Amino acid sequence: MTIRVGQGWDLHRLETGRPLVLGGVTVPSDKGELGHSDGDVLLHAITDAVLGAAALGDIGRHFPPSDERWKGAASRVFLETALRLTRDSGWELGNVDATVVLERPRLAPCMDSIRSSIASLCGLPLDAVSVKAKTSEGVNAAGQRQAVEAQAVVLIHRD
Ligand code: MG
Repeated sequence: MTIRVGQGWDLHRLETGRPLVLGGVTVPSDKGELGHSDGDVLLHAITDAVLGAAALGDIGRHFPPSDERWKGAASRVFLETALRLTRDSGWELGNVDATVVLERPRLAPCMDSIRSSIASLCGLPLDAVSVKAKTSEGVNAAGQRQAVEAQAVVLIHRD
């Protein structure tokens, strides 16, 4: 068996009145991501990790923000496309581990929904999808509620 790992990182500005979408789930919040698509920072980080594991480029190359097709797009489309490209290259996704950096709201009440949503999108069992939530201790852009960040690592394998 051959294995590869991939990592992804993303950051989006937060703005009052925008929906906060994480892993395909809309989380109740007074602030949400600014972005050309729905701004789902978590799915963007996972998408980049998947593309990176298979050395297939990055989210900006496949879905340029300059392309009007992706304006307001649901980010699940990005992840589904990255997974299809990866599978077309003979790879199978093994697991996803991600971290969201967000000062508030607390994500604990939504975490089961977020993990289930990602598991369903990725065709993985729930125990192969991990999402952690961290604050930034009140410092830097995430800590000041100016931004939300996400990091993701994935493993892919083929026989
Ligand atoms: Mg993004």
